[in-house]
Amino acid sequence: MKRPRIAVALTALTLLIAGCAEVSPDYNGSNPTYVQKPLPAGATEIPGRSEPPPQPPEKECGDPTASLRPFADSTAANTPTVDAIRARGRLIVGLDTGRNLMSFLDPTTGEIEGFDVDIAREISRDLFGDPGRIELRIVMAEDREQALENSMVDVVVNTMTITCERREQIEFSSEYLHAHQRILTVRGSPIHSVGDLDGKRVCVVPGTTSMKRLQQLVPGANILSVPMWSDCLVVLQQRQVDAISTDDAILAGLTAQDPYLDIVGDSMGLEPYGIGIAQENKDLVRFVNGTLERIRRDGTWAKIHTQWLPMLEPTTPPPATYRD
Ligand code: GLU
Repeated sequence: MKRPRIAVALTALTLLIAGCAEVSPDYNGSNPTYVQKPLPAGATEIPGRSEPPPQPPEKECGDPTASLRPFADSTAANTPTVDAIRARGRLIVGLDTGRNLMSFLDPTTGEIEGFDVDIAREISRDLFGDPGRIELRIVMAEDREQALENSMVDVVVNTMTITCERREQIEFSSEYLHAHQRILTVRGSPIHSVGDLDGKRVCVVPGTTSMKRLQQLVPGANILSVPMWSDCLVVLQQRQVDAISTDDAILAGLTAQDPYLDIVGDSMGLEPYGIGIAQENKDLVRFVNGTLERIRRDGTWAKIHTQWLPMLEPTTPPPATYRD
């Protein structure tokens, strides 16, 4: 009963060996390499151009960081927005989770944490006597102004740069972090300064000052735009781009996630961060500026900065300027 089975097995083995030895006639000695890796959902490629894209005329607003003076005594002031937030029982904060160290989902705690989250918690502390009364809503960078205009959120605390153009649509608190746009690339890359980005592929997020400045300074850079800065980290790690360009505060967080990356080149421009607030909610602007004054003064700002951004200069809080 066993013999026929052995015979069948031997025949099969002989055929297999013969098959292996035979080289397929169309084999040319090289194996296919799949160079086109999939891009993140929502990625858009914008080819470089010979001229910077046309821009509407620069908005003028004097010093864009000049905000509204805090109340001398907020209990005596007329504060309809602040009262409504207190009546609701929580502060609604817009941010996204793609900014390690600024606002990111910590897998060990399951919580969204970071420098920006802690700043929002300090506002909650002054509103409710409790830093935990915040509701976080995810807002993409290009939707920040609209989220405030549509009252989807009370404040945007999300590495948002104060600009005259944005001030046409929304209000900002006083400056709470002094960042600079720079370049992140892989160690040993030939990119050392902004001029080296010409003809290279650079990752940015739409609706940001980073994308706009890059297009103005290096129109020849080929842009890959992706929804979040964490998507930029992935495409750089997969070598689908040569560099990322945005604020040092964001790049510091990406560098902390990958030891093979380096921030290079000089500052490409100033990025003063402010908390975004709807135009009509002036009382909330003054209230938030009161919180920022307190945390500059009582050491809380320095504590939060040391916890999240010890690698980032300056280590002292930016002084406030006011326009009234
Ligand atoms: N801070 C810049 C901006 O507000 C760029 C980074 C970002 O916030 O996404 O556009």
